[in-house]
Amino acid sequence: MPAETIIDLFASSSGPTFSVEFFPPSDDAGVQQLLGALEQLQPLKPDWVSVTYGATGASRYKTFSAVGALRGQTATSLIGHLTVAGQSAAEVVRAIQAYQRLGVTHILALRGDPPGGERYRPHREGLATATDLVRLIRSLGDFTVGVAAFPDGHPEGTLELDAEILLAKQAAGAEFAISQLFFDADAYARLVERFRALGGTMPIVAGIMPVTVPSQIERFASLSGSGMPAAFEAQLRAVADDKVRFREVGIELVTQLCRDVIAAGAPGLQFFTLNRSTATRDILDRLRSDAR
Ligand SMILES: Cc1cc2nc3c(=O)[nH]c(=O)nc-3n(C[C@H](O)[C@H](O)[C@H](O)COP(=O)(O)OP(=O)(O)OC[C@H]3O[C@@H](n4cnc5c(N)ncnc54)[C@H](O)[C@@H]3O)c2cc1C
Repeated sequence: MPAETIIDLFASSSGPTFSVEFFPPSDDAGVQQLLGALEQLQPLKPDWVSVTYGATGASRYKTFSAVGALRGQTATSLIGHLTVAGQSAAEVVRAIQAYQRLGVTHILALRGDPPGGERYRPHREGLATATDLVRLIRSLGDFTVGVAAFPDGHPEGTLELDAEILLAKQAAGAEFAISQLFFDADAYARLVERFRALGGTMPIVAGIMPVTVPSQIERFASLSGSGMPAAFEAQLRAVADDKVRFREVGIELVTQLCRDVIAAGAPGLQFFTLNRSTATRDILDRLRSDAR
């Protein structure tokens, strides 16, 4: 019998899936922090763990080594991220083969961004888009492939083009999507609506970033496109001078965001953990106590 894929999990799970994203550490202390976070999160039984990949592939070995370290510590499904930016097609093929050797059967296919905010240009001998990568991965083995989706819109596109691209990714063989972080549940619901209106069927997992420190307000505004809804941001700014209170309010607001996207039908929540565990645990504890 084939091993369970995360697509099977969506079908068999009684509620939304819960998963975590980690980034590959650069040094031994970082590895210890990552494994510590995993240890703290394991009792909450994540449905899968995903590991990011440096945009231009230069740090790909860190990703493979983090995947190897996690593989030794957890039986949970692993998703390896992969990008095409800055790499030849041959290098991308080697990365896919490396995942194959590591026993990774789920890949999140991404384009990646050039460093320093430069305009994206495909590598001379590389793939142009994430859609091309989905096709390549599917042609090389029995992989379950996921892709990125953007509730607030991708900065280079329009909401309509984003939905068409998501559909093209599905047609190329993608079976699930994970969204960029967002703070407006309606933006997530509208993304799903646009995709379904075009005939898109794959599940779109909601990407959730816990908010715990004031500096995140500006940082996420530039990353996620349109930033936080005014009322959400105002509640955070009102307590920005009090670290403890800020964290409490941030956790409560993000918990409510999770409740709202679940009510909107989200098939899963993927937490961007930044290799930490406490905020994700706090939010999940609250969600699970709602369900009791
Ligand atoms: C959940 C998640 C995880 C991520 N993990 C990583 C990671 O590990 N490493 C990393 O470097 N980055 C990661 N990213 C960031 C991602 O690489 C960037 O957001 C990147 O800018 C877009 O990637 P994409 O896969 O959506 O690209 P694409 O689907 O290729 O789209 C990017 C843009 O290209 C243009 N485009 C693409 N296809 C077409 C088309 N058919 N017609 C016209 N225009 C087109 C559009 O303007 C589109 O907005 C992640 C993002 C998300 C949401």
